[in-house]
Order: sequence, then structure tokens, then C-alpha cells
Amino acid sequence: MTDDGIKSKIQIVRSRIAEAAARSGRRPSEIRLMAVTKTVEENRIRQALEAGIDLCGENYIQESRIKIESIGHPPQWHMIGHLQTNKAKYAVRLFDMVESVDRFELAVELDRRAGGAGRVLPILIEVNSGGELTKSGIPPEEAIDLIRRIAPLEHLAISGLMTMPPWFDDPEEARPFFSALRTLRDRIAAEEFDRVAMTELSMGMTDDFEVAVEEGATIVRVGRGIFGERTGR
Ligand SMILES: *Cc1c(COP(=O)(O)O)cnc(C)c1O
Repeated sequence: MTDDGIKSKIQIVRSRIAEAAARSGRRPSEIRLMAVTKTVEENRIRQALEAGIDLCGENYIQESRIKIESIGHPPQWHMIGHLQTNKAKYAVRLFDMVESVDRFELAVELDRRAGGAGRVLPILIEVNSGGELTKSGIPPEEAIDLIRRIAPLEHLAISGLMTMPPWFDDPEEARPFFSALRTLRDRIAAEEFDRVAMTELSMGMTDDFEVAVEEGATIVRVGRGIFGERTGR
């Protein structure tokens, strides 16, 4: 297998996570590195797995289905892209967690399908922290209400929040969005909803994951920083 630098890129990302954790008084073990594998071919994903990656993120059901059925589990696979309600059954079949739940209707269908499969599906609530019309996610001020409604669904386990803030040249400008998500997480945790654990904060990508770690991320989602620039979408 040709070495196109995936292993060394992963090592670099991991050491930058460790440094950012140290700066903010956290242990590196509190942060999971997700390799975002959208558009990445299977043999390059396998190189990442050989280099120790145990968590992958995919955005599209059709694309992920081929890869996940071929590669299998481990790694863990998280759905991080916009999910149409009519694809919920595939998401339940393929993924260990759905990070992109942003509406009650989708939660109801995921719950129904997870029940049919005899499992409890861990989910994150996706928050549209920048209020951008082009992005999915629930507005921050509506997140508590959505969680209150989803919490009773027995085949879902709300485990935290996910966000993708606006893109900035300077990653420092993303900091207020990350700290706002942490504050929102703490407010929701204080409500002590039954069956809701606010343990995960999935935030930070290639250009801003260090800032996200400093602000409390427990999952950082890195694509280009591991696999290089994507061609296409
Ligand atoms: C593509 C994607 C990422 C990874 O982005 P990079 O800039 O390649 O690190 C993370 N999260 C989501 C939701 C994505 O769609």
C-alpha cells in the first residue's frame, strides 16, 4: 500500500489535540478524533484504520452504505450529514451514532426504526450555532424544547450536542460559537432530563479543531487534515 502521508497526518493532528488539551487543562484522552471519510476511497480509509483511527464520520447514506458494508465495524461510524427522514432506516442499520438530529420528525422515525431493530440508538442534537440558512441544525434557542420532546423516545439516547459554526479565515473567530455550545450543553444538563446525558460536544474541524478542544470538544471531526483536500463536494 502506498504511503500517502495519512499516518503522519494523523500523528500531527493527535499531537496538536494533545497540545490544545494541555493548554486548557484537559487530558488528551477526553477528546476523540473522528476521521471524516466523505469522498475518501476505501483503501485510504483502511490506511487510517491501520494508523489507529477507531471512529469515522460519513455524510451521505448512499456513499457510506457501500463503504460500511465493506469495511464493517470496528471502526465506529457516525452519521454527520443532513439526514432525510425517509433514510432513517438505513442510518439505524449502518451507524453507531447519528450526530445530525435536528428535528422531532426525524427523531420519531429513528426511534421507530431503532425499536424495530431492537436497539437503542445514541444521537446528538445538531445546533445551527451561526444561524446560517444554508446549514442544518436547530437554532440554539429551540434546542432545549426539542430535547424535552425527544427525551421520552425509548429507542434513542441523547448523548450531547454537535455543531458546525460559520467558516472564518481566522479560527479564533469560531471560538464564541464553540463556547456558546458548551454553555448551552451545561444549561441543558442542569435541566436533568430523564434519559438525557449531555456528555458529548462534537465540534471542530480541520481549520479550527484546536480552538474547539480548548472550548471543551469531546469529538473533533477532521477530514482534510487527515486525507488532504477533497475533490468534488
Ligand atoms: C466535511 C465535514 C467535516 C470535516 O471537514 P474538514 O474541513 O475536511 O475537516 C466535519 N463535519 C462535518 C459535518 C462535515 O460535513
